[in-house]
Amino acid sequence: MTRIASHRGGTLEFGDSTPAGFTATARMALEEVEFDVHPTADGAIVVHHDPTLDATTDTTGAIIDMTLKEVKAATIRYSAAGHPMTLEELCVIYEDSAVDFRCEIKPNADGFAYDGFVERVVATLDRCSMLQRTTFSSFLIPSLDELQRASTRPRLWLVSPPVLRQLGSDAVIETAITHEIPEIGVHIDTADREVMSKIQHAGLHFGCWAAHTRMQINKALDLEVKVFTTDRPTLAIAVRADRNGGLSS
Ligand code: FE
Repeated sequence: MTRIASHRGGTLEFGDSTPAGFTATARMALEEVEFDVHPTADGAIVVHHDPTLDATTDTTGAIIDMTLKEVKAATIRYSAAGHPMTLEELCVIYEDSAVDFRCEIKPNADGFAYDGFVERVVATLDRCSMLQRTTFSSFLIPSLDELQRASTRPRLWLVSPPVLRQLGSDAVIETAITHEIPEIGVHIDTADREVMSKIQHAGLHFGCWAAHTRMQINKALDLEVKVFTTDRPTLAIAVRADRNGGLSS
């Protein structure tokens, strides 16, 4: 069965990386919650998509330059007055949930990996007893290399449309194999049977991200990809259940 991952806790239904979205997702009939992490200036790990608070909250500034207290003072837009959460707080919500983690290691505002960040994320997940329920993802090959050194947990490479277009699927597969990355995720709009079967024939798992509309969700389910992320988890669950004859999972 194709797995559903609630992207940033279901951005289009609950706001971007909000406590309400993550709390709701923990009780949904889906398999994964996707989230992104950034470090603060004082050593905390914050669950937020962007490296800055500019676009998604009532506050401005780069998370890496702020203390946790400063980040926590921000209110996330369209979130019923929710504030950014720490990774530890997210772990508490999912302690007793059947939904597993899909943790994306994000770059800084310049597009580069944060120094020594991966090890700290892995250690925090381990301390909170969530590491064994985590799959990691990243657009950055250096972060995926670091993950391989820090953990034996599954990793997947998020391949953006320009990277797929410029490298082509053969070079993408070669890169994944060179870096021992077992899974590739492409944007749903760049997914098709040809690219999927090439990737699968190379022995790699294949998934998609950003399936937000009914049409995109149906495309992912038609292709029978391993997993897809969606900003509309409630819709994705309903579409999948409908296709399964009314069964919710
Ligand atoms: Fe992400």
